[in-house]
Amino acid sequence: MDSNHSTNHDTDEDPAEHHRTENRVDTIYDSAAVEQVRRQRRMDPHCLKRLRYQYFRGGRSQAEAYQELLPPDRAAFRQSIALDCLKLVTRVDSGTDGATRLLFRTPAGELVETVILRAPRGRTTICVSSQVGCAVSCQFCATGYLRPVTNLAASEIVDQVAQANQLLIAEKRRVRNVVFMGMGEPFHNESQVERATRMLHSENWFGLSARRTMVSTVGIPAAMLRWSCRFPRSPLAISLHSVDQRLRESLIPIARRYPLPVLRQTMEQIADRPAPAMLIEYLLLRDTNDHLDQADALAGFLTGLPVHINLIPYNTIASAPYLSATPRSQREAFGSRLRDHGFTVTIRYSQGRDIAAACGQLAAVQNE
Ligand code: SF4
Repeated sequence: MDSNHSTNHDTDEDPAEHHRTENRVDTIYDSAAVEQVRRQRRMDPHCLKRLRYQYFRGGRSQAEAYQELLPPDRAAFRQSIALDCLKLVTRVDSGTDGATRLLFRTPAGELVETVILRAPRGRTTICVSSQVGCAVSCQFCATGYLRPVTNLAASEIVDQVAQANQLLIAEKRRVRNVVFMGMGEPFHNESQVERATRMLHSENWFGLSARRTMVSTVGIPAAMLRWSCRFPRSPLAISLHSVDQRLRESLIPIARRYPLPVLRQTMEQIADRPAPAMLIEYLLLRDTNDHLDQADALAGFLTGLPVHINLIPYNTIASAPYLSATPRSQREAFGSRLRDHGFTVTIRYSQGRDIAAACGQLAAVQNE
């Protein structure tokens, strides 16, 4: 499922955009088109740099960012080069917590979802999608039932952050963290996710700290090792959900390709590097993986590894009516048991459940 796009480490521009189809509006992400317009109009490259800085890092509106260009160039450049590549179709705000679900349409007409998660004191996380659909097909996840699966381009990933940031600016917030936990397995679209991550970190684009971007994977060992080399300061999240191979395979079908001993070995290799602690995501499913002896087994599997464990509540989806959430008291007992083993544990509550934006609920349906 890896993208056909080639990887280019020499630039933080998005060369994949050069090969995109005709009949589309050029965007700021298309470095060749931008350069062509710049040359035609003999524009000062510093003006373009300032435009990009003000829009991506400064969080200025599009109209304000275009003001960075000299008056004779503004209208012409704006007509030729758009600052976004996705079209916002719907925005749904949670009535109960700080989540917002954004539904975008890609230039190819596909629907993709992004979630804004607001925390106290202005801390804001953008949960981005890397694919439309997901071939991993986790039983508990609405995205895993979507077909066909397509990869997003780096620009389509970064634009989710840029447009979410624009909405946040109006609230006097700005994006602080970006997590690849939306639709898709990021390592099935590795080259574009890597390119997007470089753009998020780059001073020429978002300038986000590497520590503030996190990729979440079901555990694809070779890709995890590559990632920890390329982004040694960015934390990895691993969706574990069970340390019983058969149970894990029933929840995450692709797990049969990656046996748990190999995953453990991979985590040891990453731990040997100067990498930040890994985040372990464990979805608690009633009478499936939530018994205390399963907490003991999880602790045994993770012994000696620098990890933080997130216990995630299950959010019901229509495609898996046979699964149900672990009651709160059992979640707490499970967490306490892990703490007794010496682990740091966060028992999460789900933001965005009332707007189908919580973990596992993203299905890119235009129903509002
Ligand atoms: S949980 Fe993640 S990896 Fe699993 S199907 Fe959903 S999007 Fe894919």
